[in-house]
Amino acid sequence: MATPALSYEDSQRVFDDIDRHFQLGPEFLVELTKTFLEEFRLGLSSYNHPMAMIPTFVTGVPDGTETGTFLALDLGGTNMRVCEVVLNGDKTFSLRQQKYKVSDSLKTGEATALFDYLADSVDAFLTTHAASAYATDTPGENSDVVHLGLTFSFPVEQTALGSGKILTWTKGFSAKNAIGHDVVQLLQDAFDRKHMHVKCVALVNDTVGALLSRAYTAGGCVLGAIFGTGTNGAYVEEVSKITKLGNSPAAAHGGHMVVNTEWGAFNNSRSHLPCTPFDNSVDRLSINPSYQAFEKMISGMYLGEITRNVLVALIDAAPKSLLFGGKSTTILNTHYGFDTSVMSDIEDAWEGPRKSLSGDKSAPAFSTFDASTLPSNISAKLERIRSVVVKQLGFNDSDVTLKDAAIVRWACSLVATRAALLSGVALATVLIQTGRASFADADGKFLNRPETEKITVGVDGSLIEHYPNFERTLRDSLRSLVGEDVEQRVDIGLAKDGSGVGAALCALQALKQHDEN
Ligand code: BGC
Repeated sequence: MATPALSYEDSQRVFDDIDRHFQLGPEFLVELTKTFLEEFRLGLSSYNHPMAMIPTFVTGVPDGTETGTFLALDLGGTNMRVCEVVLNGDKTFSLRQQKYKVSDSLKTGEATALFDYLADSVDAFLTTHAASAYATDTPGENSDVVHLGLTFSFPVEQTALGSGKILTWTKGFSAKNAIGHDVVQLLQDAFDRKHMHVKCVALVNDTVGALLSRAYTAGGCVLGAIFGTGTNGAYVEEVSKITKLGNSPAAAHGGHMVVNTEWGAFNNSRSHLPCTPFDNSVDRLSINPSYQAFEKMISGMYLGEITRNVLVALIDAAPKSLLFGGKSTTILNTHYGFDTSVMSDIEDAWEGPRKSLSGDKSAPAFSTFDASTLPSNISAKLERIRSVVVKQLGFNDSDVTLKDAAIVRWACSLVATRAALLSGVALATVLIQTGRASFADADGKFLNRPETEKITVGVDGSLIEHYPNFERTLRDSLRSLVGEDVEQRVDIGLAKDGSGVGAALCALQALKQHDEN
């Protein structure tokens, strides 16, 4: 029996349904921000919540006058890095670094093997880069001990500047016998096993690193955020609001403390997040199902995978395929085969209009798409996308039409736009939590105090740095939530090398505390 033909309306409905699933209107963003604030409150008031709101014991931010030479080790992004950081004391620094690959077997094997590898890399770095001028003067200690700050970009329940227990792994790591252990101790044990004269004195999350390093170069900063392989934010909170600190000395000290929110775990229950069937599949097949729900809709590790799921659904659409004439490739058939950087290349090739926040919930009219009637500038853009698709996804040239290119671009844009809008929710939450902004009133008016002061934010990560329009869309979301006045004052700046510089600044703070005690 012949396959029944799919009407134009039927196929367009498939695209429109997908489009609708990914759209987030302004009211939805407001509701989500309220839920976010509620999870902030919970995490600040007691322990063991998914959004952990971790006190970091960093009680001040730098002002650019700090000096010293430090070693830093950074684990948690795509690469592992060892760096030597020189803080010049005039808001500038210099940095030498070496990147090292962390293989999948190290990420998922025994923790001791992973930490031995980290120690070996530090050893190799010290051997190639003569280490003479590191801060080595902890009183009572061997003066040739090199002090190191560790940037460890996973959830860690910190108990002091230089210690903390690993809570969970994220971003493809699952090393055994690490959860519940002190990460600084695991690293120090590895240094000691190799008789290395290196002492890990400070532990810092990459978001805290971004916050501290932007504060160092800009003279102040209220939020450090990462939009890269993973996502997270750390901000300066009043100690009196971190009520779970109870009667601890840190609470008695008062003042401010940097809190690592671990917002990647926002709404792990998924009660409010706009989950699509594609997200559900990504979560189910991930190595940490039910964890990091927010991160899985935002970060570079997952956006390509969500998009791959959308594309595969269109290829497999029945009774008639809606993409690539039903053909697929090994890359598209492979779990995590479609890298988020390909989406970025596709957006680069397009540079066209984006979806607005207006709540338009329909896809372009793909069902009546006619390449011969396209204006020449549009067909030139689609042709560029077509070649990216052919090359990066492993198709034969004749397999991909301009219509296929347009569909792939639309899918990428849906997924990335949603990610950027959700990122704006996280930023707005911090601004509202810290009293810098408020929601609009019932008439849609923002009642924020008229101020001129800049709100400095330090960011890092491949999405915010390289993904076309990511920041612009994040700002659209922020503006709709807290108003244009506030949004315009938010100064989002790259905290370049934030992990290294932040670890150095934290090591400096740890040594100062050591001297004072
Ligand atoms: C981790 C955070 C980290 C973020 C960005 C998340 O998966 O849980 O600790 O800051 O990735 O690297």
